[in-house]
Order: sequence, then C-alpha cells, then structure tokens
Amino acid sequence: MLTDYHLHLQPDGPGAREADRARWDEHGGPRSVGWIGRYVEAARARAVDEIAITEHVHRFREVRHWHPNPWWQDEATEDLAGHCAALAEARAAGMPVLIGIEMDWIPGRVDDIRALLASQPFDIVLGSVHWLGDLAVDHPDYPCWDDLGPEVTWARYFDELGAAAASGLFDVLAHPDLPKVFGTPMPPVLAGRRDEVIVAIADSGVAVECSSAGLRKPCRALYPDPDWLAAFHAAGVPVTLASDAHRPEDVARDYPTAVAALRGAGYESITRFQVREPRQVAL
Ligand SMILES: [Zn+2]
Ligand SMILES: [Zn+2]
Repeated sequence: MLTDYHLHLQPDGPGAREADRARWDEHGGPRSVGWIGRYVEAARARAVDEIAITEHVHRFREVRHWHPNPWWQDEATEDLAGHCAALAEARAAGMPVLIGIEMDWIPGRVDDIRALLASQPFDIVLGSVHWLGDLAVDHPDYPCWDDLGPEVTWARYFDELGAAAASGLFDVLAHPDLPKVFGTPMPPVLAGRRDEVIVAIADSGVAVECSSAGLRKPCRALYPDPDWLAAFHAAGVPVTLASDAHRPEDVARDYPTAVAALRGAGYESITRFQVREPRQVAL
C-alpha cells in the first residue's frame, strides 16, 4: 500500500496563491470537494490509496498571535473549523482523505497546540521544526543561517526536534533533516548528536516521514538522507510516505525514489493513521 500523508491545498505566500487561484476557482475554491478531488485523482494515478491533507497551522487565523513573524501573521487568514469540515465533506463523498495538519513546534505554545489539536477531529498531526525562535530554518526571507551559521543552526535544530518528539503532541515528524534544504549539510562533528536525537525519537514512539519534497528543493535529496533512514530503521522508528505537495501534480511525486530508499533502509511497512491511531501496513 502507498499513502501520501503530507499535502497542502494551496502554495505558500500571497503571490504564489494568486498565480494558482484560477486553477481552484473553477472547482469552487481551494477547499472545495472538486479541488480536493484533483489531489485524489493525482494520487490514484500514482497508485496511492490514501492521502492526508495537512495544511500549515500558520494558515489559520486562530494562531495568528502565536508567532511574531510578519510573514506568519499575514498567512493566518483562514478558519480551521471550515477547513476541517471541507475535508470531512470530501471523505463523506467517498474520497480516501484524512483530516490532518502540519503543526509547527513552538516551545512556548505547548498548551495552545494541545488545545488546538483537541478542537478538531484530526486523523494525523505532523510536527515540524520550521523556526528557531524568530529565525526560519527553511524560509529564505528570515534565514537562521546568517545569524547562527551551520553548526549552531543544526545543533539548535536537533534540540528542538528532540523536544518536539518528547512533547508527545505529534504523530509524525515532518522532513526530519530540514536544515539541509538550501544545501548546507549537517557538520560531521554533530553526527553523535544526531544519533542521540534518533534514539530520543525512537523512545517517544513518534513516526518520521520519508518525503520526496527535498528532491524539488536546492538540496536535491530526499528528506531524510538514506543514512538517516537506515539509522531510524535500526532504532525501530516507524515511517510514513509523503510528497509535501502544494499542488495536485506534485502528489506522490518521485515516489519510486522514496520507496526504493525505504526498502534500502530495511523498511517493509509504512504507518497508516485513523483518528490518530497508528497501524502498520505492508509497503
Ligand atoms: Zn514543513
Ligand atoms: Zn508541508
């Protein structure tokens, strides 16, 4: 079985959304059953049986005050309940769609995160470390690299990834080696720290995703790298499959590469979720 458990119905940023607007408007908007159906069709064309729509939490006005970054606040325009209702409507129409969310790990907002996750009938919650305080790991306009440099960026990222795992808030950690996105690999001196975090992730019970999105980024590599996948497998960490598509044509993109990497690391199963309950299914 194949799944795609990391999808967005719209691109990030007002400019990109404006450019795509005509595409979803003909279906009745980005959260219409017709537009969601385009993702389901794209998935089926790549032999994917089930998808999860995991919109960024920063898209919802309920969380506008969670982060001081002006980009974050400008993005927070939609209502979460209406979004989740649209996904439930798609499922009621017979589509294999899970209600998900890509939740940022924000250390000072643990209680707020817990309350928001309890407010909707989520099937799957991704946890993402996109921010180190006010600095962004993967947003080129607010880069942590200039201020922190590679070694501190990676070290602080590992601290936050471990804390996110230990929080128990998330089902899956998204793009686990994200700081490589712009082509800055992990400094070898941090290999031991990475292995400690992998053990912490294993102890927490959270899954990690194998995402083809990195192949479309400057790093031109799967998230995570094959040696990370092998270490996750050795530690007993379960996995999901993901494309992080922000438009239908990227759903399950480059899956032959991702599946080969999972098998190469020793994985024979992936994790399915239903109302946040995981179970293993054959890959
Ligand atoms: Zn992300
Ligand atoms: Zn995403």
